[in-house]
Amino acid sequence: MKEFQLIEHYFHRQNQQRRDVKLGIGDDCALVQVPENKSLAISCDTLVEGVHFFADMPARELGYKSLAVNLSDLAAMGAEPAWMTLALTLPEVNQTWLQGFSEGLFEAADYYGVSLIGGDTTRGPLSINITIHGLVPNDTALKRSGAKVGDWIYVTGTLGDSALGLNILAGKVQVDADNKDYLIGRHYRPTPRVLAGQSLRSLASSAIDLSDGLMSDLGHILKASEVGAIIDVGSIPQSEAMTSSVSQDDALSYGLTGGEDYELLFTVPESQRGALDTALLHAGVKFSKIGQISAGRELKLLLDGQAFIPNFSGFEHF
Ligand code: ADP
Ligand code: MG
Repeated sequence: MKEFQLIEHYFHRQNQQRRDVKLGIGDDCALVQVPENKSLAISCDTLVEGVHFFADMPARELGYKSLAVNLSDLAAMGAEPAWMTLALTLPEVNQTWLQGFSEGLFEAADYYGVSLIGGDTTRGPLSINITIHGLVPNDTALKRSGAKVGDWIYVTGTLGDSALGLNILAGKVQVDADNKDYLIGRHYRPTPRVLAGQSLRSLASSAIDLSDGLMSDLGHILKASEVGAIIDVGSIPQSEAMTSSVSQDDALSYGLTGGEDYELLFTVPESQRGALDTALLHAGVKFSKIGQISAGRELKLLLDGQAFIPNFSGFEHF
């Protein structure tokens, strides 16, 4: 199978395009229509075998996740997904793999309304690069800067599940069968909080998606906003799969530092809290208040009102 046939067979879907795609796969560039009152939000992420995923990750899950992590960046800006390009580097043409990968990719693309409009295909060690394009009404995008002293700090979903799932895959932790499926599922198929992100546009003062872990990503907001924060470690949301599988100490560690949850972390002024409850109820997403923005630049952790010093010994990262 030649490169051209491969693209044609697995990635060229002429009749499933958005109407704002003027020219899709097949020419030197794609052409899309950007509405006048909207800004284009653009981001890319690369997944490399052996670095970002294990060689035995099912192709379908990999296709899904490759797009999901990009969608999460759009969600964090409050942007609505629109188009993507795909740069694929493949060691060989493996049709079974390509079938699974493209199915997973289009499963996510169809669900979130994204059109694949172009890309590049080369030979080399397996890596997947997606550039995502979204739209956001002018001057409404959520940024990392903008958190103010007194704003409340929230996260969506539950934290740490993906990192625990990864450790299960790596053979470092053992849990019972149901929890195992759930936790690995959270690692393979994070839920990009696309609708929640859009709902936060007029409400949140800052936002970021959690790719590196709460402590690290909150640090980006604090730095960009030039503020500090107090986090009540006991209110970090944990799944039942997490609490029933590991010790309380480990669950706290996963929640504070586990990566790849792709939940949203955001800040909301007191005046918008009521509107937030309504907006996110409508978006159908669980969310939890975990702390408050403070003056200074420090990040303070509290547990039951006392200073909390994390004990991360015995906790292994990928
Ligand atoms: P060029 O040599 O001009 O870069 P290519 O032969 O690489 O063109 O690609 C031909 C067409 O197929 C282009 O429209 C390109 O965007 C598209 N394409 C190439 N690889 C992919 C891919 N993996 N997924 C989607 N579209 C692709
Ligand atoms: Mg090319």
